[in-house]
Amino acid sequence: MSLAICPGSFDPLTLGHLDIISRAARMFDSVVVVVMFNSGKSPAFTVEERYAFIRKSVAGIPNVEVDTYEGLLADYCALRGADAVVRGLRVMSDFEYEFQMALTNNSLHPQTETIFLPANREYMFLSSSVVREIARFGRDISPFVPPEIALDIQARLCGKEKQHERG
Ligand code: ADP
Repeated sequence: MSLAICPGSFDPLTLGHLDIISRAARMFDSVVVVVMFNSGKSPAFTVEERYAFIRKSVAGIPNVEVDTYEGLLADYCALRGADAVVRGLRVMSDFEYEFQMALTNNSLHPQTETIFLPANREYMFLSSSVVREIARFGRDISPFVPPEIALDIQARLCGKEKQHERG
């Protein structure tokens, strides 16, 4: 049984992420999407929210599981006995960070290989931060996120913006 891990912040999940997850699910027997929460970033959504968005969005893909992890990706890979980490590459500027992460994981846990999938050209310039920005200003994010979660994201971020305006 081959197992791949798709790690990320997913703050929130976008169609670009979902494209990478679906493609990984066609290449491996099972895929675990793991929301990592040890990075220095201060996320807009809680781990529980991000986890719930992904669960809703991958419900139709039977070999995909969702998890959360606080710690090093290499340790999670060892824990799960993963064959591969699958990451998406959009533009050249992704490359340096991704390459550094792959090399670090390889030195900590060489049993898990990193595989890069090129972004779908439709989602090349799509990121969670773009989605957050559009949603905060009340514009429609449905072209960028799975339909199951669009309204929840919109309501949450738009509501937050209004609270700031009042506060
Ligand atoms: P991280 O904070 O670990 O970079 P992200 O949630 O930003 O987490 O991204 C998770 C993975 O998804 C990364 O491999 C990233 O390159 C990839 N990714 C993000 N957006 C897209 C996109 N639009 N198309 C393809 N891959 C993407």
